[in-house]
Amino acid sequence: MTYEPDCPFCGRQNRTVISASLNRCAGCGIIFNAEHKSLSYDRDYFTSEYKEQYGRTYIDDYENIYRMALARLEKIFRMIKIKPGLSLLDLGCAAGFFLKAAKDSRIKDLLGIEISDFAADYCRKNFSIDVIQAPFAEVEIDRKFSIISSWFFLEHMADPAATIRKIFSMLEDGGIFACGIPSYYGPSFSFNRDDWVKIHPVDHRIDLSPLSAKRILKQAGFRRVKVYRCGYHPERVVKRGSWLYPFFEPLYNVFSRLAAYSDTIEIYAVK
Ligand SMILES: [Zn+2]
Repeated sequence: MTYEPDCPFCGRQNRTVISASLNRCAGCGIIFNAEHKSLSYDRDYFTSEYKEQYGRTYIDDYENIYRMALARLEKIFRMIKIKPGLSLLDLGCAAGFFLKAAKDSRIKDLLGIEISDFAADYCRKNFSIDVIQAPFAEVEIDRKFSIISSWFFLEHMADPAATIRKIFSMLEDGGIFACGIPSYYGPSFSFNRDDWVKIHPVDHRIDLSPLSAKRILKQAGFRRVKVYRCGYHPERVVKRGSWLYPFFEPLYNVFSRLAAYSDTIEIYAVK
């Protein structure tokens, strides 16, 4: 599907052209893909395709993903108190590893939404957590949640603004939206832009930055927005074997943490 080259958030046409399909909106600062295509996320996406990219299947990567999930929950619990009755909805929950970590962190009221029936089934069977197998845009749930999470999900949505509006409407007052998403304010876009453009996934509609993330979420009504770096890759700026690396790495560590300078970011927003 080809879209008009207007920003999917503010609708403005004033933009900087990054490539034939990628544009940066001069208004809200996001990068959007005018030739976004939805792909199917079937069994292969979690097995052979994932393995091709990461060297093991999604299911085999459980320990690593579970450990990251606990760290993300810790950040959520800095913004919302653990109390009985806390509920969590995970969008694009895949095989349910984040939901499992939430269950182990004493959240009892859990629900996932996942488009892949293989992954949805895996979560129900292995973790006994309920999953609605459908695209989020088609799901109508007449209730609210304390926490809504989406890990590397929002960038796949054809209409990300409508998705954020729907998430906001499904959150309780004081509830948290926690999300992981690619960011262009990181080493790959700054130092290796040709490759960044070349390998930009066709099924990614938007790329954010810490600043544009804050802007669009505050615009959507969120009161407070915190952004953290997600990946940490100093070697994407200075090669690990270089004589400069031992001097550069500690500085980069401080800078990337303070500025959330990273190819992927985590966002935590309070309604
Ligand atoms: Zn815009």
